[in-house]
Amino acid sequence: MEGKEFALNDIVEMKKQHPCGTNRWKIIRMGMDIRIKCEGCGHSVLIPRREFARKMKRVLVKHEG
Ligand SMILES: [Zn+2]
Repeated sequence: MEGKEFALNDIVEMKKQHPCGTNRWKIIRMGMDIRIKCEGCGHSVLIPRREFARKMKRVLVKHEG
């Protein structure tokens, strides 16, 4: 599905924004679990891949190179 492909270092938007008011997250680890870091406050969370795919709204910025 378009917009649902993601890779390391991509910036993504989640369906629910972070309490700090930002809805830009960077994928900083890929594996069985995905670790994303809030671009606003630097908080990071670890989410199972399947759950991440469901909660992610779209990729905002594809990592170049
Ligand atoms: Zn935040």
